[in-house]
Amino acid sequence: MEATAKRLELASMLASLFVDAKDEVEKLVFLVQGKLAPDYEGIETGMADKLLVKALSGISNVREDQILKDMAKTGDLGTVAFGIASGIKQRALEERMHTIADVFDSLKAISKISGEGSISKKLGLYTELIIGSTPSEAKYITRIITGRLRLGVSDATIISSLIAAFGWDGDPEAIEYAYNCYPDMARLARLMRSHDWHSIAATSPAPMVPVKVMLAERLTSLSEILVKLGKKAAFEYKYDGLRTQIHYDGSNVKIFSRGSEETTGNFPDIIRAFKSTFNLKSCILDGESVPYNPETGELYPFQMVSKRRGRKYDLEGKSEEIPIVVFLFDILYLDGRSTMNLPYEERRKLLESLFSENENFKLATRIVSSDLQEIQAFFEKSIADGCEGIVAKSVSDETPYRAGARGWQWIKFKRDYQRQMGDSLDLVVLGAFAGHGRRKGTYGALLMGVYNDERDTFETICKLGTGFNDEILFSLPKRFEALKTESCPNNVNSIMTPEVWFYPDTVLEVVGAEITISPVHTCAYSVIEEKSGLSLRFPRFTGIFRTDKKGSECSKTSEIISMYNNQAKK
Ligand code: ATP
Repeated sequence: MEATAKRLELASMLASLFVDAKDEVEKLVFLVQGKLAPDYEGIETGMADKLLVKALSGISNVREDQILKDMAKTGDLGTVAFGIASGIKQRALEERMHTIADVFDSLKAISKISGEGSISKKLGLYTELIIGSTPSEAKYITRIITGRLRLGVSDATIISSLIAAFGWDGDPEAIEYAYNCYPDMARLARLMRSHDWHSIAATSPAPMVPVKVMLAERLTSLSEILVKLGKKAAFEYKYDGLRTQIHYDGSNVKIFSRGSEETTGNFPDIIRAFKSTFNLKSCILDGESVPYNPETGELYPFQMVSKRRGRKYDLEGKSEEIPIVVFLFDILYLDGRSTMNLPYEERRKLLESLFSENENFKLATRIVSSDLQEIQAFFEKSIADGCEGIVAKSVSDETPYRAGARGWQWIKFKRDYQRQMGDSLDLVVLGAFAGHGRRKGTYGALLMGVYNDERDTFETICKLGTGFNDEILFSLPKRFEALKTESCPNNVNSIMTPEVWFYPDTVLEVVGAEITISPVHTCAYSVIEEKSGLSLRFPRFTGIFRTDKKGSECSKTSEIISMYNNQAKK
């Protein structure tokens, strides 16, 4: 799998593997992504490289500093483990063959060890695993533990491989949609293997399992938005905060981020206020949380609390200092029932009936209008009130909550659109070029990319060398060290060859002047012009690392194509 850059070939390999795996397929869907559970469960083996080096040294009698040197050559401890397992002579290779369940269960056991003596217990289990492994097994088991398996297997690849493996004649989107409502790949694999299409179709959200968030399209004029949504629409403030999905199961409250990661620990004040605000049995609510000044009610942009947004956000202990208010704008589940299929207007009314606004929970400010002047004034007021703009929402009857989908039911209109190019882009870092002169010792420029979701590959769009302050600039090599790969990852399509390749993971916010045709970039290659792609001209880093976005959640090729076409219209 690692060696193929052909997505179809990868999917077909996976499909036959899934068939062969029989009921172990539930474990396999996690292992091929180097995981042990859905992301939202946050299960990790908790073994740092240092500990693995110690274990490998114990197994082989090679000194730890030598192992570290070997590892530095390739950046991959898995390759070192391969060499060490090749040298183990006690048992014949054929006796050292693990089953999927063996590996999965051992890794899960390692992840569960905690408390006193946990380090040596983890070390013992890993040592046992490696001694009983073939060299290849040792390599990949070690990579899974270090979190660097990197086979380029996305959720979308797994879903299409499951479809190919177990047969499904219907619309593949139906399977994807079931997964977006309840993103547990083991459950999906189990249902698909037993051809339980009924349960798949009936999938509905459940409290404590994050639903993939619904996303908005963008347009750069209010009149276009009105035409698109049928002359009348709802307009809500677009708060500049963090997406916040709140789950309550009757006893506990959990909070999930835009990327479905649990961030409950970051919101102690919201958790405390939840039970005194809401009197219900269970629910899933969707909103945006924003820091604010309780004296004046003024909203602060999230960057003010920390330069970093999202994933590794740490507000713990800071909640007294900087209060947070959640602006709720949707409801997905209430008292044992999914509300996702109700029209937006009904969901909003339901939400309004559930609570009285207080300093921790408010409703997103909105109007329903068909009057351009009124909408323009509302937009300006949103900016004056500290928001990024507005989100227009369709008020037609056909407006279910579309989990995981970016569609025309929601359209964002931001203050940034008045700048030359309009919206900023979220680009993923694919590689780096060495720095010279003043930039010696760090990178001169980064190779940036977008995600082509139809092909499940990353495509290059520009080289980025502007907008970095010295502190960030000189920290880049260290920041990207763990993402280095020896060669171009199998899910990256590039004409340029940077000095260093990175696994596509880190997303940066970038602004630029315009989208232009370029023969050296692969974004939308040969789509607009034969043997050329699209490129971002004069790119500049805004200073914001989008840590709330995973690599594949960066801007999409299709968005760049529509930005290019929109530019051409102007
Ligand atoms: P996207 O989330 O669309 O990929 P992004 O993360 O760059 O892009 P924006 O383009 O700024 O975010 O806009 C979408 C986000 O706006 C939503 O994901 C949500 O977090 C936020 N948001 C704020 N207010 C609202 C609202 N009233 N309705 C929907 N989303 C809102």
